[in-house]
Amino acid sequence: MSVIRELLIGGKETPARSGHTADVVTPHTGEVFATVAAAAPADVTAAVDAAAHEFESWSALGPFERRAIFLTAADLLEQRIEAAADTMAGEVAATRGWAHFNVGLAANVFREVAAAITAPRGEVLAAQQPGVLGMAVREPVGVVAAIAPWNAPLILSARAVAAPLAAGNTVVLKPSEAAPLSSGLFIADVLRDAGLPAGVLNVVTNAPADGPAVVAALIADQRVRAVNFTGSTEVGRIVGTLAAQHLKPAVLELGGKNSVLVLADADVDYAVRATVFATFANSGQICMSADRILVHESLAAEFTTKLAEVVANLPTGGPEDPATVVGPLVNTAAAQRVSALIADAVGKGATVLAGGGEPSGALHPATVLANVPAAAEIARAEIFGPVSVVETFATDDEAIALANDTANGLSAGIITENGTHGLKVAARLRTGIVHINDQSVGDEPQAPFGGFKASGYGRFGGRWGIEAFSNTRWVTLATEHARFPG
Ligand code: NAD
Repeated sequence: MSVIRELLIGGKETPARSGHTADVVTPHTGEVFATVAAAAPADVTAAVDAAAHEFESWSALGPFERRAIFLTAADLLEQRIEAAADTMAGEVAATRGWAHFNVGLAANVFREVAAAITAPRGEVLAAQQPGVLGMAVREPVGVVAAIAPWNAPLILSARAVAAPLAAGNTVVLKPSEAAPLSSGLFIADVLRDAGLPAGVLNVVTNAPADGPAVVAALIADQRVRAVNFTGSTEVGRIVGTLAAQHLKPAVLELGGKNSVLVLADADVDYAVRATVFATFANSGQICMSADRILVHESLAAEFTTKLAEVVANLPTGGPEDPATVVGPLVNTAAAQRVSALIADAVGKGATVLAGGGEPSGALHPATVLANVPAAAEIARAEIFGPVSVVETFATDDEAIALANDTANGLSAGIITENGTHGLKVAARLRTGIVHINDQSVGDEPQAPFGGFKASGYGRFGGRWGIEAFSNTRWVTLATEHARFPG
């Protein structure tokens, strides 16, 4: 039986005013997994009403009480790990392993912001006048709009709300239509059960066709003071433009076109294992997934032979099999899109070293391509599927130029046994994140996370995430009367 859920507004399960609903379909079975309320702009206003109403009391709640809620939420989320995995499998066909990873990291996102709540909130400043105490103090901004994607739904919905809430704001969250539970309501349920007061976090689910109007209404509401968005570069541009029109700060976490560089002094077997993880974890549907593997020519033959062999044997299938590594994509259209990208590349001269072939429904075979010409669409587009494109280079300069030759700049991995060599190359890569002697996929809640160039701006994580949703104020106290001219 499918799940039925309403909007979460002011702590109450609230149907959309229109009475409309939207179905969520399991990618590989085509069955309706859930039916959710489909919000329109009037529902968004009601959600912002609730968030604005609760702002004063939430921001005034003592830090120890607020910290306790996030610590409890982390534990509750971990206790609900199998329910979370069932939900992610039902909505986006996530493998068990990926869902468990989502739970672990989302719980640590809550623990990290719990710590941030009792960390120093500002600094004492020098002051020009004698007897003046100057301070820089972080204060909450009000209502924050949070917009989440489907691909790492628990992590990214937890991230979208955790720092804004911990900074003392209230939130209206708009989940992805593909995963309204696991990128929205699941996390909201956990926080509510952990003691988050009603109305502090509100969730508006919607039908796909209403997404633009719902997001526009949310950002335009004058009580919304900051925005965060995680999703594609294309939609991020729309969200960033709306935020700019209304002069609201926005954190935009967007798409990637990430490389793993296998330098001449890499350990080849390690590089193969790292590449397989970077490309095929969550079937390549991670913003930090490695689309491009740049390999030094001296290692290329051994590396590609070993990579193709591992990839050809990756366990592939549905999420119900715990051994599955490469599972179905988010929908059949996504698998068709990946297949078309491969066909285009092959038509222009690319070689298939493993996989290829036709998708079966939402399931696309794990694939390795070589000799992809620059004219192929896959050379530029974010793949977001289980495809590894291998290219070779002769010098570090060439590798760096290849890696930087993209509009995006989210993450990179550099495989080398020589840390100094790795640091030198890392310094010249134009990304928000780089891992030396490791691959491109990594997310830890205490670290600054975010992109460069068309991969977005602003940072989640640690104090950077708290600052992004704070009004940092200059506050002075004159302990002596100031002297004025005249
Ligand atoms: P998406 O951009 O299609 O959707 C993201 C959100 O925007 C969803 O809530 C969706 O409902 C909403 N949306 C869609 N169209 C809209 C419109 N016209 N106006 C307003 N809102 C709209 O992205 P997705 O498919 O959910 O997620 C995959 C993308 O997200 C990939 O590009 C991936 O790289 C990126 N991503 C980035 C990060 C990061 O941290 N940088 C993390 C995860 C995913």
